[in-house]
Amino acid sequence: MRSNLVAGNWKMCGDSASIGKLVAEMKASLPAEPGVDIAVFPPSVYLAQVLVGLSGSPVAVGNQNVCDQPSEGAYTGEVSASMLADVGCRYVIVGHSERRAMYGETSEQVAQKAKQALLQGLIPLVCVGETEAQRDEGATLEVISAQLKPIFSTLSAEQLRLIVVAYEPVWAIGTGKTASPDQAQEVHAFIRALFSKKDELLAKGLRILYGGSVKAANAGELFAQADIDGGLVGGASLDAQEFSAICRAAE
Ligand code: PEP
Repeated sequence: MRSNLVAGNWKMCGDSASIGKLVAEMKASLPAEPGVDIAVFPPSVYLAQVLVGLSGSPVAVGNQNVCDQPSEGAYTGEVSASMLADVGCRYVIVGHSERRAMYGETSEQVAQKAKQALLQGLIPLVCVGETEAQRDEGATLEVISAQLKPIFSTLSAEQLRLIVVAYEPVWAIGTGKTASPDQAQEVHAFIRALFSKKDELLAKGLRILYGGSVKAANAGELFAQADIDGGLVGGASLDAQEFSAICRAAE
């Protein structure tokens, strides 16, 4: 049986004072023993602060990106999976649509990033999703399938068992427009079916998160869908009360 996961992507937001306040409020508002896995992804310069602030809490910490190269060295500006594991991260986000669109990340690079994360014991949240134009053209499932193809060709069966997939329609990210539960469920079921072509058991255990303007008001009906196993939450994760309500909706 797969457990739900709620992940908070803080993006490039906050400073040490506001992040300190958010961590304190999260600790006060989240249940001590939540019936759901919870992780937050601060900007990397605040990882140490958040790791200390959340130590002893049930909330895991991850980074919003990871280098696609296996060893340390001349990769200016990058952070390796081994460094993230070393400081206590448990997860990394790979292939967020903002990175694909603004920094030209390809699906092949995303798969390499996922592989480096797994080799260091980190769990990658692999983001996929179509743009509004692609949805309007009826190309959604084709786009998702193409984005996941290098994941299937790069990761071993054992590694595939450990990843989390996040379906994030680009048109729903930060826009206030949420995919309807039916629209999201259709894509989640499609993703699970792609994995079941590899292995039925793997598909059954795969956690598929929905992301795109999730808030406390819509989380319940999204998480009630058969193939939605929690959420990747952007804006609403910067508000401790709202994030906590979303976590409760996933319990
Ligand atoms: C995200 O950044 O992954 C995201 C889903 O953002 P938001 O919840 O703000 O749409």
